[in-house]
Amino acid sequence: MALTTVQELQTLIQQKIRQKMPQSNLLNQPENTEKITIVQSVGRVLAQDVISPLNVPNANVSAMDGYALPQAAAAGSRWKVGGISAAGHAFEGSLHSENECVRIMTGAVVPRGMRTVVLQENVELLEENDEQYIVLKQNAEERSNIRYAGEEITQGAIVLQRGRILREADVLLLASLGLDSVSVFRKIRVAVLSTGDELRDPGTPLDGSDKIYDSNRYMLMARLQSLPIEVIDLKKVDDDLESVMRVLESAMRSADVVISSGGVSVGDFDYLREAVLRLGAIHHYKVAIKPGKPFVFGQMGQTWYFGLPGNPISGYVGLDIFLKSALWQLCGAGETQIPQPLRFEAVLSAPVKKAPGRMDIQRALITQAEDGSWQAAPCGPQDSHRVLGISQANAYLILPLESGPLPAGERVTVQPFLETFL
Ligand code: AMP
Ligand code: MG
Repeated sequence: MALTTVQELQTLIQQKIRQKMPQSNLLNQPENTEKITIVQSVGRVLAQDVISPLNVPNANVSAMDGYALPQAAAAGSRWKVGGISAAGHAFEGSLHSENECVRIMTGAVVPRGMRTVVLQENVELLEENDEQYIVLKQNAEERSNIRYAGEEITQGAIVLQRGRILREADVLLLASLGLDSVSVFRKIRVAVLSTGDELRDPGTPLDGSDKIYDSNRYMLMARLQSLPIEVIDLKKVDDDLESVMRVLESAMRSADVVISSGGVSVGDFDYLREAVLRLGAIHHYKVAIKPGKPFVFGQMGQTWYFGLPGNPISGYVGLDIFLKSALWQLCGAGETQIPQPLRFEAVLSAPVKKAPGRMDIQRALITQAEDGSWQAAPCGPQDSHRVLGISQANAYLILPLESGPLPAGERVTVQPFLETFL
């Protein structure tokens, strides 16, 4: 049977979740939203449209330091300075003649009746009998250097939509509208477990050369922190069906999602699939990707299940390629909001080994040449257990399913690790 392609699996996951979302226990209900301060809101998903309570700017204000005039005026015309309008201190007085202007600062309210602002650099300032006058060095057009009320945002406009993944710039926007808190979806609860009798926790001794440290669960728990997720650490589960069933059953009661590492191949002690089948359904098993061919996607009651293979790089890649967007979707992110991978073209500076038949996600080092073009080289051997290479890499090479080996000089697609770039 042909393997599912990467794209097919991505679509399948997206559709299954989409079908389930409206009646899902995750969102929509008021108990699944919370109000948080805007300072805490970056990376959370908005549960409500944000409607501007204000016009921005809130009044007609000056864009520059200068002088506000009641009308367009010609170079050489002379105006008496009849008052001052500073930011936070609007001019409240009145002018006595038609030939008066108001000294005005950036951000200060343009006094009623004033129709243009002349930059201070464009006038000559004179003092006569304790009075100040300006003489224009240039013609002044009407409406110059004024930011009009509501020009940027009108009161009542939707400025951010439900499903928005809030960004740093949104805090600026929300604060400038006077909003100090927002309603967001609650964090989803994701339980993480690893399987493998060989595994020991970092920080404890390795009691035998047949033991290894559990790297996957720690990697997953760390990486899930960048989403609005409450991680439930289910630790390590013994390699027997009964133990796996017991842990999954309890996870179904507390978690929205379960992610497991290991035990999804066809080895003698790979019980995960059997356990999920008994508790729910499996939608998918094998995908044409390297590393990480076994990728189990299923459901146990209301809880979604993702089973990653045990090899660390398979799990790492699986999280990037399949899990992140699924998790964002489950967090309530709008479909247009879900971050898409940044990919671009680079030229290989070294050959690449590759067999046709699966999409290969290799670990690579990319560098930018002076002319702006990018070069890429695989970062050491590409076996799925190698943890040093991925730590040294700064990008994935995305090699399509049909591709064979590639010589240096060939064009390839790369996807940078965003944390290594600014
Ligand atoms: P499995 O998918 O359980 O067959 O495991 C495949 C390989 O990955 C085996 O060599 C395991 O020892 C290793 N492995 C499984 N789980 C982990 C883990 N959590 N951390 C590091 N290596 C693992
Ligand atoms: Mg195992």
